[in-house]
Amino acid sequence: MSSSSQKIPPTIFVIFGGTGDLNARKLAPALYNLFLDGWLPEQFAIIGTGRTKLSDEEFQEKILDGINQFSRTGKAAKDKWTTFSQHIVYQVADVKDAGTYKDFGKRIKEYEQQWDGPANVIYYLAVAPEFFPIIASNLAKSKLTDDSDRTRIVIEKPFGHDLDSARALNKLLGDIFEERQIYRIDHYLGKETVQNIMAFRFANALLEPLWNRNYIDHVQISVSEQLGVGDRSGYYDGAGALRDMIQNHLLQLLCLVAMEPPVNFTADEVRNRKVDVLRAMRRFRSEDVRESAVRGQYGEGWMQGEQVPGYRQEKDANPTSNTETFAAVKFFVDNWRWQGVPFYARTGKRMHRSASIIMIQFKDAPHNIFPPETAESWKQNRLIISIQPEMSIRLQVQAKRPGLDMMLNTVDMVFDYKGTYTSEAPEAYETLLLDTMLGDQTLFMRGDQVEAAWDLVMPILNYWQGRISQNFPNYSADSWGPESAEALIARDGFHWYTLPLNGGKH
Ligand code: NAP
Repeated sequence: MSSSSQKIPPTIFVIFGGTGDLNARKLAPALYNLFLDGWLPEQFAIIGTGRTKLSDEEFQEKILDGINQFSRTGKAAKDKWTTFSQHIVYQVADVKDAGTYKDFGKRIKEYEQQWDGPANVIYYLAVAPEFFPIIASNLAKSKLTDDSDRTRIVIEKPFGHDLDSARALNKLLGDIFEERQIYRIDHYLGKETVQNIMAFRFANALLEPLWNRNYIDHVQISVSEQLGVGDRSGYYDGAGALRDMIQNHLLQLLCLVAMEPPVNFTADEVRNRKVDVLRAMRRFRSEDVRESAVRGQYGEGWMQGEQVPGYRQEKDANPTSNTETFAAVKFFVDNWRWQGVPFYARTGKRMHRSASIIMIQFKDAPHNIFPPETAESWKQNRLIISIQPEMSIRLQVQAKRPGLDMMLNTVDMVFDYKGTYTSEAPEAYETLLLDTMLGDQTLFMRGDQVEAAWDLVMPILNYWQGRISQNFPNYSADSWGPESAEALIARDGFHWYTLPLNGGKH
C-alpha cells in the first residue's frame, strides 16, 4: 500500500494482452489516473503486446478509447493525454513464439540506455490462463527475469482451475521467480472498502473485545450481481460461481474479517494471519456438502422491465450446462476466536440487486429490561460493511424513538464515504498497479494462500461435478437465488441480509 514518501524507480510495464478487454477497461485507465495523480515516475514506459497488427499510434488510439470510456476521471484532457501517450508503444507478438521475447529484451535495453540506468520491469499477464506458463517460461528462457530485484510478474485471475493446477502453476512460477516477484491479483483486495476492513478492525480499540464467538452470532458475506454471464459463457461454463467468486474474492473477505491482528502491517505478517484462517477452516467431507453448500443456475425472467435469457440460453452457452451461477456455503473457522460461529457466503448472477456486503450480527442483549410493547422493530446489533456500490460502514443499534412514550427501534450509525470525503476513491487497479511498482505485496495473494483456498473448496467442487443437478435452472432472474439458499441459513434461525435501498431511514 502506497505512501506518498516512497520514490518509484524508472519502470517499464510490459502488458501481455495489451489489445484485450482488461487493458482497455481497467489497466489503461488505472495507469492514466496514476499518471494524472503524479504517482508514475518521470521515466516510465508501457509496452503493449498482442497478435493484432497495430502501429504505436493505432495502439495509443485504442488506449485512449479505453480511458475515455472507462476512466473514473472521465475523458482524457488533450494536453495530459499527449504527454502520457508518448510513453506508450506497441509490439506485435505471439506469446508462443520464443523469438518475440528477444525483441522485448531489446526494447527494455533501449529504454535503460535512454534513461541512463536500470529500470524495474513489470510483466503483466492480462491474457487467458493457458498462457501464464508459456509466458513465464519464455521470459525465463530469454533471461528477462534474471534480476530478481528489478523484475516482477503480475498474474491475473483465475489462478488455477483446481488445487492441482494451482499447485502446478505455483511450482512453475517458483522455479523461475522468487515469491517476492510474484503478484497474484485478487482485485477485490484493492478496493477502498476492503482495505478499510483492516483499518477499521486494527486501528480502533473498541472492536477487538467484541470480535469473537462470545459476542458475534454469525457473519454473512454476500456478493450479488444483476448481470448475467452475457457473452462470456465460453469462460464461465468451465468455471462457475464457486471457482469464479467464492474460492478467491469471498474467501479473501472472510479472511479479513476472521484474521488475528498481525504484528505489523507488512506483507508477510498480514498474509500469514490470513493463511492461518484458511488453515483453520473446517474441511468438508463429501457427506457434509449437501448440508453446507447450495448451488443454483438462473433461468429466464425479467430484469428492470427487460426480458433476459436463462443461463442455458445465453450466447454460445451449453443448453444442458450443469454449471452453477449461484453458490452459497456455510463455513466454520475452527479456532478459539470463532469456534461455533457460522460464516455464510453467497454469490450469484442475475440477482435482484448488485451489492457486495459483509454483515456481522452480534448476539442478543443478555437481558431485556424493557416491556415487549416498547420494541417496534427490535433487532440484534449488526455491523454492516458495504463494499459496493454503496461504500459505507453501518452500526445498527437500538435507540429511543422521539416522543413522549418509550418506544425503541433500530437506527444506523453510518460512516458513508461520499458524505465524509470529498476526494474520489481510486479504482482497485490503481492501488494494485501502484503496489506492483512499489514492491508491496500486502494486497496480493501468496502462493500458499491460493492453495489453501483451493484445498478448502475442492470437496464441494468434486461433489457438484460428480452429480448432475436435477433441478437447474432453479432460480429466476431478478430473485435472490434458489429457495435452498434460504433454507441453508433459515435452518439456523437466520435470514440473508440485504441493505435497505432508502438508506434505512425510519
Ligand atoms: P480478452 O479481451 O480476450 O484479451 C485477450 C488478450 O490476449 C488479447 O489482447 C489478445 O490479443 C491476447 N492474446 C491471445 N492470444 C495471444 C497469443 N497467442 N499471443 C499474444 N497475445 C495473445 O481477455 P481479457 O478479458 O482482457 O482477459 C485477460 C485476462 O484477465 C484473463 O485471464 C481474464 O480472466 C482476466 N480478467 C479479465 C477481466 C476483465 O474485466 N476483462 C477481469 C478480471 C480478470 P490479440 O487478439 O491481439 O492477439
